[in-house]
Amino acid sequence: MTLRNRVSIAAAVGVLVIIAVVSSVLYLFYAASLHSRVDAALVDAAQQASSIAQRIKQSGGGDSGPAPDINRPVTVGSVDVQLFPGPVSAGQPTPFGPLDGHDVAVSEQTQPSYFADGRKGDQQFRVYTTAWLGNPSGLVRASRAADADDGALRDAALLLAGLTVSAAGVTYGAARLTAGRILRPIAELTAAAEHVTRTRDLTARVGSAGTSDEVGRLGSSFDTMLAALHESVAAQRQLVADASHELRTPLTSLTTNLDLLEDGAGLADPQAPALVRAAREQAGELDQLITDLLDLARYHESASHRETVRLDLLTDEAVRRVQQRMPLPAIDTRLHPCLVHVDPSAVDHAVSNLVDNALKWTPPDAPVCVVVENGQVSVTDHGPGIADEDLPRIFERFYRAPAARGMPGAGLGLAIVGGVAHANNGTVAVQTGPHGSTFTLAFPPLPGAVEVSPGQQE
Ligand code: ADP
Repeated sequence: MTLRNRVSIAAAVGVLVIIAVVSSVLYLFYAASLHSRVDAALVDAAQQASSIAQRIKQSGGGDSGPAPDINRPVTVGSVDVQLFPGPVSAGQPTPFGPLDGHDVAVSEQTQPSYFADGRKGDQQFRVYTTAWLGNPSGLVRASRAADADDGALRDAALLLAGLTVSAAGVTYGAARLTAGRILRPIAELTAAAEHVTRTRDLTARVGSAGTSDEVGRLGSSFDTMLAALHESVAAQRQLVADASHELRTPLTSLTTNLDLLEDGAGLADPQAPALVRAAREQAGELDQLITDLLDLARYHESASHRETVRLDLLTDEAVRRVQQRMPLPAIDTRLHPCLVHVDPSAVDHAVSNLVDNALKWTPPDAPVCVVVENGQVSVTDHGPGIADEDLPRIFERFYRAPAARGMPGAGLGLAIVGGVAHANNGTVAVQTGPHGSTFTLAFPPLPGAVEVSPGQQE
């Protein structure tokens, strides 16, 4: 069932229930008021007992005719009135059964007048019994058929039921029209989503349908999501293209060196050791590139594994490892104990990349300085600095400044640093000038005292 139909039916059912409840209350009120009007008419007719008796006597036809039957029921409006001159006695017959002791007590005014439901044949009556005030110990009984108002009640019920059903029907129609207009942007959004699913066309846009309500905002969010998805897919395609390109270069050199070995005198060739060394270096480059690509993918998302670690100790370890590989230039460290909550292996990798770059760009006789303080690692080198035109792009994947083209590397080191910072709630910043650069990797520091053994102090 469509949303439009569901909204319309819900509105119609809501109105139906409300009007049905109101109609039922109105009907009950109407029935109760009819009832009390009947009782009032019975009392009114009973009060006319003396004038009714007068009329019966006058209708007797004078002295010559038979004596008028005073017990004969007389119709006043819709009420039948029957008179029982006093004194009445229990057992005296009436159309509603013989009088009883209670009726005798009412006639003597020792009991109050009363209403009752009586039966004459198979018809129900409302009966009022009261003392005949103009006739000592006399009794008056006024009665009216109980179903006399059934027609009016039935008409009222039919009218209210008709009104209820019509109101529900009108509400359904109005709700369908309104819902159609309100839900049109949702229908357009649905069509656009289906179009994207069918065609995989991430350039399709829905727009906010000119409204700033929830539906408009949903449309804008959908467009933003599509744009982000489009950008992400494009970036992935670009990454695959760049990675393939970068992998091809060492692979081609490797193949060339192996071809040379095969075409010449093989391992007996005096060039063979150099060719094998070059091939091994190229295989190492390939290995490094693949590792970097995997790390880049791994560290880009939010870090799944985090633990509280000493940033100073972690940095110390990374510096030692890099320095073992590249003993010069020397690294001057100032490591202040501090705690951070990060993925340790990812941060180790990022710090190694920064130190690695600093050693690559600093002349062998100038020191590199690594400082850890308050959740931050700063790596300062004395290299040539970074050109203004390169600065905005150095954290991009595969970006290498023209000055770096002759050096080893594939342009993934800083992209990994940026990914690690992002995935661990951190930041990375660079300050650069003609006499060197400082890269600062910062994470939210954890409060709490860090116990430092004497050997760990600067
Ligand atoms: P790679 O070192 O493989 O070239 P990176 O992503 O580590 O790739 O660095 C990207 C670029 O940023 C480098 O090519 C270089 O131009 C510049 N760069 C990075 N670190 C430094 C540095 N310490 N001094 C000068 N330039 C740097």
